[in-house]
Amino acid sequence: MTKEVLEHCTRAVVRYMNGDMKEFERLTNIAMKINHQCVCSNCGNITIPAKRKIDKDKYVKIELCLDCGAQKELQCVS
Ligand SMILES: [Zn+2]
Repeated sequence: MTKEVLEHCTRAVVRYMNGDMKEFERLTNIAMKINHQCVCSNCGNITIPAKRKIDKDKYVKIELCLDCGAQKELQCVS
C-alpha cells in the first residue's frame, strides 16, 4: 500500500464514520484502483514509477518491482 492509497483509505474511513456512504465508496474505489496499478503482476509486491533509457536521450516510463525486478512499460518520454 502506497502513501496515496493510504490517504484515500483514511479519507474513506472518515466519510464512512460521518455516514456518507456514497463518498466512502467513491474513495474506496479510487484507492483500490491505485493499489491495483501499484502491484507487480508477477509477484504481487509493490512497484515504483521509474524510467528506463532506450536511446541516447530517450526514456520509457516503467513500473519497477523492487522485489522481483519485473518491469511494466507505461508510455514514451522523449
Ligand atoms: Zn515483482
